[in-house]
Amino acid sequence: MFTLREFYQPDSIKEAYEILSKSKRNMVLGGCIFLKMSNKKMGTGIDLSNLHLDNIKINDRVISIGASVTLSQLEENGFIGNYANGLIKKSIETIASKQLRNMATVGASVYANYGFSDIVPVFLALNARIHLYNAGWMKLSDFIKMEKTVKNRDILIEIEIPIEESFACYSSLRTTAGDFCILNLVVSRIKDDFNIVVGARPKKATIAIKTSEFISEKFDILPFDNLVKEAGDLLVEEVECGSNIRGSKEYREQLSKGLLRKALQEVFDESISYD
Ligand SMILES: Cc1cc2nc3c(=O)[nH]c(=O)nc-3n(C[C@H](O)[C@H](O)[C@H](O)COP(=O)(O)OP(=O)(O)OC[C@H]3O[C@@H](n4cnc5c(N)ncnc54)[C@H](O)[C@@H]3O)c2cc1C
Repeated sequence: MFTLREFYQPDSIKEAYEILSKSKRNMVLGGCIFLKMSNKKMGTGIDLSNLHLDNIKINDRVISIGASVTLSQLEENGFIGNYANGLIKKSIETIASKQLRNMATVGASVYANYGFSDIVPVFLALNARIHLYNAGWMKLSDFIKMEKTVKNRDILIEIEIPIEESFACYSSLRTTAGDFCILNLVVSRIKDDFNIVVGARPKKATIAIKTSEFISEKFDILPFDNLVKEAGDLLVEEVECGSNIRGSKEYREQLSKGLLRKALQEVFDESISYD
């Protein structure tokens, strides 16, 4: 269990950032679910509860998710439950337990960008943007490439997903319910642009850019089996997998081809029935 020397609830995000910047031992607190698993000795714990970041706002253009929104709030939101074939809800409802999802926050999940994350690949596939207090707005795809050091620590304020006519599928494999994924893969189709994202490799999630471009160019030319075979080979070449106790590199490579076939088939079925 971690220990805090002080606990503080700032009334503005500016104040929260000032405290964070004062010492490398000061930490932003989300739901503390992941922090609880460490033995860190921290300075001031910065609780964001007074900042009203626990809202989901939806208009005809974007879904805006405050950093303190819990995974359960996302899972239970009616609009999000149906958006992009229920992609967000489907990826979240398999995470650990309801008790954990009631506490864990979206902001921490995105900012920490854990290698096992189910949330980051989904947000990447939906072209999410994020708002950081100091660095401002940026694409999530740019954020995940940034090196995070104590010096450039920041506070995530909100995540924004553009509302588009999108079809998507989250596909994954876990050894047992509640465990981390051995691998997860998301396919999204926004108009004729496909996005393939692979996570829990077990490295951090990545967008398979070449595979996405290949599918976007060839999906209405090649027969499905040929498309999947060639895209699968390209995916294995492009996205590096590794080994850990959950699975070997070779197993993950084969699995990525299988998950790609399953997810692509579902996205095609959904978009054809919509046409
Ligand atoms: C047992 C267990 C199993 C899990 N299984 C899965 C799984 O299968 N799939 C999955 O996707 N996730 C899984 N998770 C992770 C979970 O979904 C959350 O991502 C995680 O708990 C972090 O959320 P939190 O609110 O508890 O963050 P905290 O533990 O409070 O914080 C985590 C980190 O984020 C930082 N932080 C918090 N909020 C912000 C902010 N607004 N801006 C900047 N930094 C911030 C903190 O300083 C800290 O470094 C699991 C977690 C646990 C403990």
